[in-house]
Amino acid sequence: MSSALAPYAATPERSRGRRVHEDAPPGRSEFQRDRDRIIHSSAFRRLEYKTQVFVNHEGDLFRTRLTHSIEVAQIGRSIARRLALNEDLVEAISLAHDLGHTPFGHAGQDALNACMKEYGGFEHNLQSLRVVDVLEERYADFDGLNLCFETREGILKHCSLEDAAQLGEVGARFRNDQRPTLEAQIANLADEIAYNNHDVDDGLRSGLITLEQLASVRLFSGHLDEVRKAYPALAERRVIHETIRRMINTLVSDLIRQTEDNIRAQTLRDVDEVRKAPALVAFGPQMLELNRELKAFLRTHLYRHYRVMRMSAKAHRIVSELFQAFMSDRRLLPPQFLRAAETEHARSVADYIAGMTDRYAIREHRRLFAVEEN
Ligand code: MG
Repeated sequence: MSSALAPYAATPERSRGRRVHEDAPPGRSEFQRDRDRIIHSSAFRRLEYKTQVFVNHEGDLFRTRLTHSIEVAQIGRSIARRLALNEDLVEAISLAHDLGHTPFGHAGQDALNACMKEYGGFEHNLQSLRVVDVLEERYADFDGLNLCFETREGILKHCSLEDAAQLGEVGARFRNDQRPTLEAQIANLADEIAYNNHDVDDGLRSGLITLEQLASVRLFSGHLDEVRKAYPALAERRVIHETIRRMINTLVSDLIRQTEDNIRAQTLRDVDEVRKAPALVAFGPQMLELNRELKAFLRTHLYRHYRVMRMSAKAHRIVSELFQAFMSDRRLLPPQFLRAAETEHARSVADYIAGMTDRYAIREHRRLFAVEEN
C-alpha cells in the first residue's frame, strides 16, 4: 500500500512513534494497530449511548456518536484514498475524535466546562487525548492506548496556547504555528461534512426542521429541486436521502478538487513540509460559503429549537448537579475515581462525568437525588 501513497502522506515508517516503545506489530501497520486499540477501548463502546443533538433515548433512528464516528471514518477514508494519503491514519483519528465527549452533546460539554472554570476548564478535544493517553486502563505496560504521535496529534484538533504548553510534543504545533498531517486535516473536515448532513437528516426525521425551511439553504435546495424534477413520484423519505447523498458527494468532490489544487500550488516533498505549509485540506471559496449557510441554518433552526433548548437545559442541570454532589463529598465517587480524586479532585470528577453515557448520567443523577431510589 505504501508505494502508492503520495510522498507527503503520513506513513508508519516515518512515524514519530509511541510514547512507550513497542515492537512493530506483525501483519498490520502501526496506524492499523492504533485503529484496533481505539475500537477495543471502553470509551469507544460508550459512544453508542452518547449523542450530539438528540438525547440517546429519544429515538432509535438518530445518530449516536458511534455511528457518527463511523460516518466520519468512511467519508475521511474516501477522501484519503482519492488523494493518495494514508487511509489507516485517517480512520484511526476519525474513530477516536469524539472519545472525550461528555454525555448530552454540546450542552453537556458547556455545563462541565462551566463547572471546571476554576480548575482549568473542560474541553472535549483535550479530553479525547486524555482518554487515549491516560484514562483507558487496559494494557499491562502503560496507561492509555499508547497511540502513535500522528494519531494523537490528529485527535487534538485545537487547543489553547496555555493548554498546548502543558502537552509537550503533541502541543508543539500550536506554539510553532504548524499544521498537522493532511490525514488529520481530512478527518477534521470529514467530521464537519458528516455532522452537518446527518443533522439535516435527523432534524427532518424528528420534525424539528422542515423541507420548506430548508428551501433557504442553497446547498440543500439545489439538489432537492433536481431530485424532485427527476423523480416526481418519489416518496419523501427517499427524496430526503437522495438529496443528502448528493449534498455529501458535492462537498466531498469539492474538497478533493480544492485540496488537489492547494497541494499542487506547493512543492511538498514530505510530511514535514505539510506541517510548515498553510492548511491545505479545504473547500473551495464557493462551497465554503454554501457550507457556512447550511451551518448557520442548523444553528438557528435546529440547535436553538425550543425542544433542543429544553433538552440542553435539562442536561446542564444534570451535569452541574452531579459535579456539585461529587465535589461536596468525594466519598460519593466510585472507588477508581475516588483514588484519583485524592490528588486531583475536580479533574477526576470531570473524568467520571465525561465518561458517562446519556442514560448513565440520568440514572446516576436519579440515584443521587431522587428520594425513592437508592
Ligand atoms: Mg465529531
